[in-house]
Amino acid sequence: MEGDDVNAGGYRIGLVGFRFDENSSFMRGAADAPPLIREALFSDASNLWSETGVDLGQPGVISDAGDVGPGEGAGMLEAVEGAVEGLLARDLRPLSLGGDHSITYPIVRALARRHRRLSILHFDAHPDLYDDFQGNRLSHASPFARIMEEGLVSRLVQVGIRTINGHQREQAARFGVEVHEMKDWRDGLEFGFDTPVYISFDVDGLDPAYAPGVSHREAGGLSTRQVIHLIHRVCRPVVGADVVEFNPRMDVGGATAAVCAKVAKEMAGVMLGRELLPSRLTNLLS
Ligand code: MN
Ligand code: MN
Repeated sequence: MEGDDVNAGGYRIGLVGFRFDENSSFMRGAADAPPLIREALFSDASNLWSETGVDLGQPGVISDAGDVGPGEGAGMLEAVEGAVEGLLARDLRPLSLGGDHSITYPIVRALARRHRRLSILHFDAHPDLYDDFQGNRLSHASPFARIMEEGLVSRLVQVGIRTINGHQREQAARFGVEVHEMKDWRDGLEFGFDTPVYISFDVDGLDPAYAPGVSHREAGGLSTRQVIHLIHRVCRPVVGADVVEFNPRMDVGGATAAVCAKVAKEMAGVMLGRELLPSRLTNLLS
């Protein structure tokens, strides 16, 4: 692997934006998010150290592949899959900036070809398990139905859920999805992953008080700290992650862009550093 001196584990991040929101059911705008998240991530308002002690600002740690799109049509999801495949071929761990949540299905398709066993940690207000939504099987309300139908992952763990209906409860049972609903929230959740993990972060999993810039504001959600805490506690290699559903048209003073950048930074930190469980990290987590 080239550049294997840049961090303890030898891993590097492939950053890519997907400017695509055609599969949104209610409001467009997520296609405008990637440049704003990138700007917030590299802003001088903060630094590029994760809380877990990884310096993402070291040369070569993040390889920015730029944006795919803006674009429309079925070819966009193929382009997403191809872009992620390209990052994996370069031994980069993909950190994807959406875009609406429909991009997670092609991302996971590409990753599943590399990882025979894979689990997903999914933050969201919504289970996104509709068989179809308003006739669209590729809707941003359906990616996890497609992922589970194809058997792409062995476990899907959902956190932040607070909009589940009868159909989606049936779908969750059918696919064996582990749904942690907000109504049952308790501190100290542990998931005991035993495979590599992909993290999919739909920003509306957060309470809109923390992240107003979303198409579907659903009150009663997670705090930013609760999300970061769960990310830090993933005990297996994190081989990819996404930030989706940020809608800049709904944002207030750039607050949500900054939250997206913060969560992306912490996900990148665990993508780079988790295998070794260095003592400083163990101490942070104890
Ligand atoms: Mn979603
Ligand atoms: Mn959502």
